[in-house]
Amino acid sequence: MSQSRTAKPSRPTIPRSTGTQENRDGSFRGKIKPRDQTLLSRLAGEVAIRTFAPEQIERWQREIHEQTLRLSRSINQPNFSRVGRDDLVRMLHMYDDRFFAGKILPVAQAEGLSFSLSSRMTRVAGKLVTNYPQGNHAAPRQFELVLSSTLLFQTFEETGRPVEVTGRLCHDRLEAMQRVAEHEFVHLIEMLIWNDGNCSETRFQSIAQRYFGHTDYRHDLITQRERALIKFDIRIGDEVRFRHDRRMLIGRVNRITRRATILVEDPKGERFSDGQRYLRFYVPLEKLSKA
Ligand SMILES: [Zn+2]
Repeated sequence: MSQSRTAKPSRPTIPRSTGTQENRDGSFRGKIKPRDQTLLSRLAGEVAIRTFAPEQIERWQREIHEQTLRLSRSINQPNFSRVGRDDLVRMLHMYDDRFFAGKILPVAQAEGLSFSLSSRMTRVAGKLVTNYPQGNHAAPRQFELVLSSTLLFQTFEETGRPVEVTGRLCHDRLEAMQRVAEHEFVHLIEMLIWNDGNCSETRFQSIAQRYFGHTDYRHDLITQRERALIKFDIRIGDEVRFRHDRRMLIGRVNRITRRATILVEDPKGERFSDGQRYLRFYVPLEKLSKA
C-alpha cells in the first residue's frame, strides 16, 4: 500500500472562492468546484477530529462486507476468486457514505478520480497515485486508487489461517480487501485535503485509527510473510543462520517485514522478556538459511 505522485514543475495560481453550499445532512449541494480551498479546509477540520466508537466502526465494516456479498456479480463468497472494478467502486462509495456522509468521493471526483484493479501489481496490495496533469501542484489533480488483485488472491490461499492487515486480524479475503481499500482511502483523503501524506506519519495513522480502527500502517505485512514462507520456507520463531562480518551467526526469526529481524544471543545485547540478552540483526530473507 503505497502512494506516489508524478510531479511536474509548479507555477503559482490564485485560489478561487467557492459557491458550494452544504446540505442539512452535510452533503454538498450544487456543482463542486475542483480543488475548492474553502471546501477542502472544511473537510480538513472534520477529518482531523472525528472519532467513532469501535463498535460503530466494526458494525459498518461488517455491513459493507455483507452488502458486497449481496450485491456483487463477481464476489460470491468471502474467499472470492473473482473481483471486478465495480466491486471496488461500490465498496469505496459505501465507505464514503457511512464514514464521511458521502463528502469525500464527490470532491475528489470534481478534480478527477479513477479506480482500478491491477494483476501486475505484485509488490504492494494497494496504491494511490496523484497526477498533476497541468504540471502545477496547485491546480486540480487526478487521483487513481489501485488495488492489486494478485496480492488479494495470494492471501487466504490456505483457508482457515487468519492474516493481519493494517494491524487487524482478517478472516477472509474480502476482509483483507476492505482493510486495503480503507488504507488507500486514507491516502486519498490526505492527498485530496493536504496534497501530501505518508502512512508512516502521525496524521495518516490518526485518521486510519479513528475512522477504521487500524493499528498498523505497514504495507507488506502479509506479502512478505507469505513470501518468506513460500519462497524461503522461513517463519517467525525459526532458527536460522546468516553471515555477518565474515562470521556465521545463528539466531531466531523474531519479525518479518521487508527484512527479517533476527535475535542472536549475546551477553552485550539487550535483555528480552525471556531473561536472555540478544543482539538484533536485520537480514534480507534471501541471506538466511535454516539452522
Ligand atoms: Zn500506505
